This record gives sequence, C-alpha cells and structure tokens, in this order.
Amino acid sequence: MFMEKRLTVALVAHDAMKHDLAEWVAWNWEKLLSHRLVCTGTTGRIVATTLMERRGKDSANARFDITMLKSGPLGGDQQLGAMIANNEIDVLVFFWDPMSAQPHDVDVKALLRLATLYNVPTAINRSSADFIISSSLMAHADYKPVIKDYTSYIERNVK
Ligand code: PGA
Repeated sequence: MFMEKRLTVALVAHDAMKHDLAEWVAWNWEKLLSHRLVCTGTTGRIVATTLMERRGKDSANARFDITMLKSGPLGGDQQLGAMIANNEIDVLVFFWDPMSAQPHDVDVKALLRLATLYNVPTAINRSSADFIISSSLMAHADYKPVIKDYTSYIERNVK
C-alpha cells in the first residue's frame, strides 16, 4: 500500500505576504494535512484558521498537527532556526517580504542561512512552494538531503 511520507513542514510569512500564504494553504490544504506543520506565531494562527475553513465540519478524518512557535520578531524565527540545526525540519516555506525592511532582519537572515547550511528544501515564494509541495520527493521515504561534512571545520586548530 502506498504510504504518504509524513514530513515536518515549516511555514512562515511576513505580514505583507500572509495573504499569499493563506491562499497557498487554502489551495494545498489536503496535501498539508498529511504533514506535521510548524509555524511562527501569527502565521500559525492564519494557517490554522485557513485549514479549519477548508476542511469544513467533517473533521473526523482531517485532523491537522500544527505547532506554533513565538511570533517571528519575538524569537520565533530563531526557534525555527534551532529546529533546523537539530534536523527537525524537512521543508521550509518562507514567504519573506521583498519590499519592506523588517525589524528582525538579522533573524530572517539567520533563518535563511541555516536553511541553506542544512540543505533544507526552501520555498521563498508561491511558485517555488508549488514546485516543492508537488514534488514526488515529498513522499519518497528514502530521500535525505545531503549535509556537508563539517568535521574539518569543527576540528580545526584554533590555538
Ligand atoms: P509571524 O512571524 O508569523 O509571527 O508574523 C513571521 C516572521 O518571522 O516574520
């Protein structure tokens, strides 16, 4: 029997992009229900509301698993970064705002840096999110992103 692989998918959107993310979640709600979701605080409320609206009243077979971290500017981006460093995130969907400066710009940069460092598949806009959620690798039990070997960096001589 074909088993959908259950991944941990992180969802984050800056304020100007939350509407886009809500539309994307509404479009992909059935696919998302089969995964564990982790969101920064405000994004998480919007994602949960959207999923509840889409699954309707018949919720018996459509439970969703969502963890809400702190709001991004209050440490949520860093909590997510720590989860990435602990290999707890399989996919990151991060609709960051290309048109506004963010008070927590350093946290945004750090989150994207860790996602890159740990080779986490990362969608930064709706089309890349569409490609990732539609990928057959989402259901491929043996697929593991290659992580670079940093042993020589860890063991470098710093005396
Ligand atoms: P928020 O955080 O979901 O709490 O708005 C988003 C972000 O990291 O900027």
